Amino acid sequence: MPVETNNKLRAPRPRQFGGGLLVLFTVLLLLNFIIPSFGSRPPQIAYSDFVTQVQAGKVGQALIGADRIEFTLKPDPAAEPSQPQRPQIYSTTPLAIDLDLPKILRENGVEFGAPPPSNNGWIGTVLSWVIPPLIFFGIWGWLLNRQGGGGPASLTVGKSKARIYSEGSTGVKFTDVAGVDEAKAELQEIVDFLRNADKYTRLGAKIPKGVLLVGPPGTGKTLLGKAIAGEASVPFFSISGSEFIELFVGVGASRVRDLFDQAKQKAPCIVFIDELDALGKSRAQGGMFGGNDEREQTLNQLLTEMDGFEANTGVILVAATNRPEVLDPALRRPGRFDRQVVVDRPDKIGREAILNVHARNVKLAEDVDLGAIAVRTPGFVGADLANLVNEAALLAARNERQSVLMKDFAEAIERVVAGLEKKSRVLNEMEKKVVAYHEVGHAIVGALMPGAGKVEKISIVPRGVGALGYTLQLPEEDRFLMAEDEIRGRIATLLGGRSAEELIFGKVSTGASDDIQKATDLAERSVTLYGMSDYLGPIAFEKQQMQFLDGYQSPRRAVSPKVTEEIDKEVKDIVDRSHHVALAILDQNRNLLEETAQELLNREVLEGESLRERLNKATAPAEMDTWLLSGKLPEGTALMQATLG
Ligand code: ADP
Ligand code: MG
Ligand code: ZN
Repeated sequence: MPVETNNKLRAPRPRQFGGGLLVLFTVLLLLNFIIPSFGSRPPQIAYSDFVTQVQAGKVGQALIGADRIEFTLKPDPAAEPSQPQRPQIYSTTPLAIDLDLPKILRENGVEFGAPPPSNNGWIGTVLSWVIPPLIFFGIWGWLLNRQGGGGPASLTVGKSKARIYSEGSTGVKFTDVAGVDEAKAELQEIVDFLRNADKYTRLGAKIPKGVLLVGPPGTGKTLLGKAIAGEASVPFFSISGSEFIELFVGVGASRVRDLFDQAKQKAPCIVFIDELDALGKSRAQGGMFGGNDEREQTLNQLLTEMDGFEANTGVILVAATNRPEVLDPALRRPGRFDRQVVVDRPDKIGREAILNVHARNVKLAEDVDLGAIAVRTPGFVGADLANLVNEAALLAARNERQSVLMKDFAEAIERVVAGLEKKSRVLNEMEKKVVAYHEVGHAIVGALMPGAGKVEKISIVPRGVGALGYTLQLPEEDRFLMAEDEIRGRIATLLGGRSAEELIFGKVSTGASDDIQKATDLAERSVTLYGMSDYLGPIAFEKQQMQFLDGYQSPRRAVSPKVTEEIDKEVKDIVDRSHHVALAILDQNRNLLEETAQELLNREVLEGESLRERLNKATAPAEMDTWLLSGKLPEGTALMQATLG
């Protein structure tokens, strides 16, 4: 956890006067009620008894209060005169309706009067004056405190909320970040700039003003920021882009100003702005909808400030984002963020290194091979791997093991990929059968597709959100490009499950909706983003491409209705043809499909060698490659329909 040091940016926290006073009130109040009851209470007597005693002439003195009568008896003439005692006081509660009492008292010679005003009354009086305003101020102070800024709100809204760290206080070092060596090297250079500025300025070089870390979520950008703080021997300001934007107009801009004022005073130093896209969104984007004045002002202030400090003042701005494409172009020009460092998904070696970092504090069994785990986790980012190691350790602990076994890691990978097992979700016989054929359908088609990974496991144990069964297919190597036929193959694999249902049962279930969604998305993207449609050609139909955020669909470029129609037609065509391929494959391998599904129903899970042997028996239709490659069926081939079989 970051330790806040040297925290001068925040106004000094007001003493917790709200809380302190509240405690004080409580004590006073309690005293007020308790004190009078401390002394021994006089014995309580019924009012009628009191009157009887008076009439019997035994009562000496009486103090008649509004709600209490205290009285003493006349000394007993029979008692020893040698022991003069303080007379015993008795008390009773007066009856308001008994208006005859004074008369009776007088007739019986009782000495009586009203009690003096109670001696603890003053506390009550004072408190009744003091408490309400104090409570008011107390609650007010407490509310202000809670809002986080400290001090009267009006004085702090414009202050930046940056936390300042001194060297080492984040506890993260460069050695804790693995698999992103280029980014690390770049940032180490930055640290060196600040430490040995002379070395560079002597030769007339200008130290860069800003470095922008870009990459998918979870690759370690924030972690790198913390590592700089941990390693650089200079003050480090850290703030998130969203913290500039607030309800009040103009606050963001004044926070930016404040941040840079502070930074310049502390130079040399590093300012780290996480999630820069929250404030650096392109001004052009909002234009159509009236824009966002507050954000624009903040952005303008940031641009001004970045221009405002001279190169070599020793302030370096480091920012991180996973949406570089939405950043305002002005931010990215040289002189502002003049360096872009890509923090990308780690490759196999990188993943192994990251696993090593996170396994440092985990007891691993002999059989654990982190390299092999790295091979099986393509596409995982640092955050996934950290999660994976933790899941494996939790599993081992749950099973009371002494150390974490390879098998825990295997289960953990499945958990991360497919979600938790849901043993409680019981399928009926028919559902089980449908799921079994569905999954085997995926597996057989997947086994034959070009560039697809090995099918590692088929299972009909429900997992995660809505998955009734699943087929685990792991690529054999990291892939950075996908060829056209591979995309088509992928779509065919996705439709393999549904195709098997069609073929065997002659009808489809709702279980394929997720597959269909993914297949359609992929087909659409191959047309609108990758230009893979022969007819429409290499034209981008989406406004911008998200480099690092998968599955984010940007709005369509303005296209004519005719083109929209063509896109829809092409998408449907691609999906239809892949569907055809899947159906043809399963038709040809029908026996294998039946056998494997039966086996799966018996065993619930198929994996390893036995599964591979089975799937190796699958054969591809002769024309499959041409279908996939051209995306076109040969003339005269009718599109296979669901009525098959
Ligand atoms: P982001 O790029 O989204 O800012 P974070 O830096 O917040 O990602 O990463 C989240 C967590 O994932 C880190 O706290 C760390 O535990 C782990 N992690 C991510 N990348 C790496 C990496 N390259 N090396 C080691 N751990 C990493
Ligand atoms: Mg982050
Ligand atoms: Zn499916």
